[in-house]
Amino acid sequence: MRGKCVAGALLLWALAPAAHAWGDTGHEVVARIALHFLSPGARARVEALLADDPDPLTAHDPVSAAVWADRYRDSPENGRRANYQQTHAWHFVDLERWHPDLARACHGFPALPPGTPASRGPAADCVVDKIEQFNAELKPWPGADTSPERRAEAQRALKFLIHFVGDLHQPLHAIDDHDRGGNEKRVNMAGAHAGTLHHYWDDVFVQRLGPDDAAIAATLSARITPANVRAWQRGTPRDWARESFDTARTQAYDPLPPPDERGHYRLSPDYRDQATGIVALQLEEAGVRLAALLEGDAR
Ligand SMILES: [Zn+2]
Repeated sequence: MRGKCVAGALLLWALAPAAHAWGDTGHEVVARIALHFLSPGARARVEALLADDPDPLTAHDPVSAAVWADRYRDSPENGRRANYQQTHAWHFVDLERWHPDLARACHGFPALPPGTPASRGPAADCVVDKIEQFNAELKPWPGADTSPERRAEAQRALKFLIHFVGDLHQPLHAIDDHDRGGNEKRVNMAGAHAGTLHHYWDDVFVQRLGPDDAAIAATLSARITPANVRAWQRGTPRDWARESFDTARTQAYDPLPPPDERGHYRLSPDYRDQATGIVALQLEEAGVRLAALLEGDAR
């Protein structure tokens, strides 16, 4: 019976949609770093906007809400796979490894039809464009006289924004090597279960940073200097996408060893340590930049 359950679980795992995100921990770390760097006023209005969100998919605080977009994508609430088909492409930007073209990877940055909220925009769009759209939609920030419909849209925009700034900084969300973001490359290393290259960058290297999201965020936040903040908050989501792409190419793909006879990649301790450091930096930059976007006109 037990064997059957394990087989069933493996089957479910195999049928599950491909992961397109930092694991939960990575997103929670990004949200915690952002909270660390927000002014008290901006933090209060972020928390207040989420607090009366009736959506049941996640709890209504910024750290829990950081994984809402993944839960929403995988939820059957609007019909099986409907949310997945509508929003899954929004979690990444497929910049071709050898011929990166941002406009092409973003489907030409399709304009939202007038009056259409970003959460109802075209399915063929990229994480860069969605960050810009949701960030714009939060301005002006909803106040006491805002309609319930507008407030609900702002809550969705905020949850998508918190999540997507994280996704943009997962390097494998910003490159396309015709391997579904590294999901088709099998890797292994000493001391870890074999998995995909994508999973390693989503989770395995993140887990090496500390025991949980709160501990990791505390360690990373404490080492970020005011000069780091000033440097990282420069630029736009389009610049950050190009940086993430460069990081993916030079740190995730170029240093891969030749595959073995089964086509699997054996990662060296040097690759592992370098990648863990890069993941820490990406999480720090994402948190600081998310704080800048959320600060918006509160400053
Ligand atoms: Zn995602």
